[in-house]
Amino acid sequence: MALQTKTLLISAGHSMSDPGASGNGLSEADIVLDFRDRLFDYLSGKVVLARDGKEGQNLPLSQACEMAKRHDVAVEFHCNAFSSPSATGVETLSDVSGKRLGAVLCNSLSSVMGISNRGAKGEGSGQHSRLAFVRAGGIIVELFFITNPDDLRAFRDNLEALVAEVGRVLIDEVCTEYSDAA
Ligand SMILES: [Zn+2]
Repeated sequence: MALQTKTLLISAGHSMSDPGASGNGLSEADIVLDFRDRLFDYLSGKVVLARDGKEGQNLPLSQACEMAKRHDVAVEFHCNAFSSPSATGVETLSDVSGKRLGAVLCNSLSSVMGISNRGAKGEGSGQHSRLAFVRAGGIIVELFFITNPDDLRAFRDNLEALVAEVGRVLIDEVCTEYSDAA
Protein backbone atom coordinates (compact mmCIF):
# COMPACT_ATOMS: atom_id res chain seq x y z
CA MET A 1 0.00 0.00 0.00
CA ALA A 2 1.06 3.62 -0.48
CA LEU A 3 0.01 6.55 1.66
CA GLN A 4 0.33 10.11 0.40
CA THR A 5 2.42 11.96 2.98
CA LYS A 6 3.32 15.16 1.06
CA THR A 7 1.22 17.74 -0.77
CA LEU A 8 1.93 18.34 -4.47
CA LEU A 9 1.69 21.31 -6.84
CA ILE A 10 2.44 21.14 -10.55
CA SER A 11 2.84 24.46 -12.31
CA ALA A 12 3.19 25.65 -15.90
CA GLY A 13 5.95 28.21 -16.32
CA HIS A 14 5.09 31.67 -17.61
CA SER A 15 1.53 32.80 -18.31
CA MET A 16 -0.69 34.21 -21.00
CA SER A 17 0.89 37.65 -20.56
CA ASP A 18 4.46 36.28 -20.38
CA PRO A 19 4.83 33.52 -23.00
CA GLY A 20 8.53 32.89 -22.26
CA ALA A 21 10.94 31.61 -24.88
CA SER A 22 9.96 30.74 -28.42
CA GLY A 23 11.51 28.53 -31.05
CA ASN A 24 10.52 26.46 -34.05
CA GLY A 25 7.22 28.35 -34.22
CA LEU A 26 6.09 27.49 -30.70
CA SER A 27 5.94 29.36 -27.42
CA GLU A 28 7.20 27.93 -24.19
CA ALA A 29 3.94 28.83 -22.41
CA ASP A 30 1.84 26.75 -24.83
CA ILE A 31 4.08 23.68 -24.50
CA VAL A 32 4.34 23.72 -20.72
CA LEU A 33 0.64 24.42 -20.17
CA ASP A 34 -0.27 21.41 -22.32
CA PHE A 35 2.30 19.28 -20.46
CA ARG A 36 1.02 20.39 -17.04
CA ASP A 37 -2.58 19.54 -17.96
CA ARG A 38 -1.66 16.11 -19.37
CA LEU A 39 0.32 15.40 -16.19
CA PHE A 40 -2.57 16.61 -14.01
CA ASP A 41 -4.92 14.21 -15.79
CA TYR A 42 -2.42 11.37 -15.34
CA LEU A 43 -2.03 12.05 -11.61
CA SER A 44 -5.68 12.74 -10.81
CA GLY A 45 -7.22 9.83 -8.98
CA LYS A 46 -3.75 8.51 -8.03
CA VAL A 47 -2.72 11.32 -5.68
CA VAL A 48 -4.20 14.59 -4.42
CA LEU A 49 -2.62 17.55 -6.21
CA ALA A 50 -3.05 21.16 -7.26
CA ARG A 51 -2.14 23.08 -10.42
CA ASP A 52 -1.64 26.80 -11.09
CA GLY A 53 -4.92 27.37 -12.88
CA LYS A 54 -7.81 25.38 -14.26
CA GLU A 55 -7.39 23.30 -17.42
CA GLY A 56 -6.03 25.59 -20.14
CA GLN A 57 -5.35 28.40 -17.67
CA ASN A 58 -1.86 29.46 -16.55
CA LEU A 59 -1.94 31.83 -13.57
CA PRO A 60 0.77 34.50 -13.25
CA LEU A 61 4.05 33.52 -11.57
CA SER A 62 3.25 35.48 -8.41
CA GLN A 63 0.18 33.30 -7.80
CA ALA A 64 2.07 30.10 -8.64
CA CYS A 65 4.69 31.11 -6.06
CA GLU A 66 2.08 31.69 -3.38
CA MET A 67 0.74 28.19 -4.08
CA ALA A 68 4.26 26.70 -4.05
CA LYS A 69 4.84 27.99 -0.52
CA ARG A 70 1.81 26.03 0.68
CA HIS A 71 2.86 22.67 -0.84
CA ASP A 72 5.57 20.22 0.22
CA VAL A 73 6.56 19.41 -3.36
CA ALA A 74 6.18 22.07 -6.07
CA VAL A 75 7.41 21.53 -9.61
CA GLU A 76 7.24 24.06 -12.44
CA PHE A 77 7.82 23.16 -16.07
CA HIS A 78 9.75 25.30 -18.56
CA CYS A 79 11.59 24.93 -21.85
CA ASN A 80 15.18 26.01 -22.15
CA ALA A 81 16.38 28.28 -24.98
CA PHE A 82 19.73 29.34 -26.40
CA SER A 83 21.04 31.32 -29.36
CA SER A 84 22.66 28.20 -30.82
CA PRO A 85 20.17 25.55 -32.03
CA SER A 86 22.59 22.78 -31.01
CA ALA A 87 22.16 23.42 -27.27
CA THR A 88 20.39 20.35 -25.90
CA GLY A 89 19.28 18.50 -22.82
CA VAL A 90 17.30 18.44 -19.58
CA GLU A 91 18.12 20.32 -16.40
CA THR A 92 16.51 21.36 -13.13
CA LEU A 93 17.03 24.47 -11.01
CA SER A 94 16.38 24.40 -7.29
CA ASP A 95 17.85 25.13 -3.92
CA VAL A 96 19.80 22.41 -2.12
CA SER A 97 16.66 20.77 -0.76
CA GLY A 98 15.33 20.14 -4.29
CA LYS A 99 18.48 18.66 -5.82
CA ARG A 100 17.77 15.01 -5.02
CA LEU A 101 14.34 15.06 -6.70
CA GLY A 102 15.76 17.28 -9.45
CA ALA A 103 18.41 14.68 -10.24
CA VAL A 104 15.80 11.91 -10.42
CA LEU A 105 13.67 13.98 -12.80
CA CYS A 106 16.70 14.80 -14.98
CA ASN A 107 17.65 11.12 -15.23
CA SER A 108 14.11 10.06 -16.08
CA LEU A 109 13.41 12.75 -18.67
CA SER A 110 16.76 12.48 -20.41
CA SER A 111 16.54 8.70 -20.70
CA VAL A 112 12.97 8.74 -22.09
CA MET A 113 13.84 11.40 -24.70
CA GLY A 114 17.36 10.16 -25.40
CA ILE A 115 18.81 13.66 -24.93
CA SER A 116 21.61 14.75 -22.63
CA ASN A 117 21.30 15.13 -18.89
CA ARG A 118 22.55 18.58 -17.88
CA GLY A 119 21.87 17.79 -14.25
CA ALA A 120 20.28 19.30 -11.16
CA LYS A 121 21.65 22.83 -10.79
CA GLY A 122 21.38 25.63 -8.30
CA GLU A 123 19.08 28.61 -8.80
CA GLY A 124 20.18 31.26 -11.22
CA SER A 125 21.94 28.88 -13.64
CA GLY A 126 19.39 29.25 -16.43
CA GLN A 127 18.68 31.69 -19.20
CA HIS A 128 16.16 33.83 -17.38
CA SER A 129 15.45 34.77 -13.82
CA ARG A 130 13.28 32.21 -12.09
CA LEU A 131 14.38 32.82 -8.57
CA ALA A 132 10.88 33.54 -7.32
CA PHE A 133 9.62 29.97 -7.78
CA VAL A 134 12.82 28.48 -6.35
CA ARG A 135 12.68 30.87 -3.38
CA ALA A 136 9.13 29.66 -2.81
CA GLY A 137 10.61 26.18 -2.32
CA GLY A 138 9.92 24.90 -5.83
CA ILE A 139 11.88 23.01 -8.47
CA ILE A 140 12.13 24.35 -12.03
CA VAL A 141 12.26 21.62 -14.70
CA GLU A 142 13.73 22.69 -18.04
CA LEU A 143 12.24 19.89 -20.12
CA PHE A 144 14.30 20.43 -23.29
CA PHE A 145 15.56 23.22 -25.58
CA ILE A 146 12.73 24.79 -27.56
CA THR A 147 15.38 26.25 -29.89
CA ASN A 148 16.66 22.77 -30.84
CA PRO A 149 14.53 20.97 -33.48
CA ASP A 150 15.88 17.56 -32.41
CA ASP A 151 15.00 18.20 -28.76
CA LEU A 152 11.52 19.34 -29.76
CA ARG A 153 11.00 16.19 -31.84
CA ALA A 154 12.24 13.98 -28.99
CA PHE A 155 9.77 15.67 -26.64
CA ARG A 156 6.80 15.35 -28.99
CA ASP A 157 7.55 11.77 -30.03
CA ASN A 158 7.69 10.68 -26.39
CA LEU A 159 5.04 12.91 -24.86
CA GLU A 160 2.85 10.19 -23.37
CA ALA A 161 5.83 8.29 -21.97
CA LEU A 162 7.20 11.50 -20.47
CA VAL A 163 3.92 12.30 -18.74
CA ALA A 164 3.79 8.77 -17.31
CA GLU A 165 7.44 8.84 -16.20
CA VAL A 166 7.24 12.26 -14.48
CA GLY A 167 3.96 11.11 -12.95
CA ARG A 168 5.59 7.96 -11.58
CA VAL A 169 8.49 9.94 -10.09
CA LEU A 170 6.14 12.45 -8.42
CA ILE A 171 3.91 9.70 -7.00
CA ASP A 172 7.04 8.08 -5.53
CA GLU A 173 8.08 11.42 -4.05
CA VAL A 174 4.82 12.25 -2.28
CA CYS A 175 3.83 8.75 -1.16
CA THR A 176 5.31 6.41 1.43
CA GLU A 177 5.06 2.68 0.86
CA TYR A 178 4.01 0.71 3.88
CA SER A 179 3.13 -2.84 4.69
CA ASP A 180 0.15 -3.62 6.85
CA ALA A 181 1.22 -7.21 7.32
CA ALA A 182 1.41 -8.03 11.03
ZN1 LIG B 1 10.82 29.60 -18.91
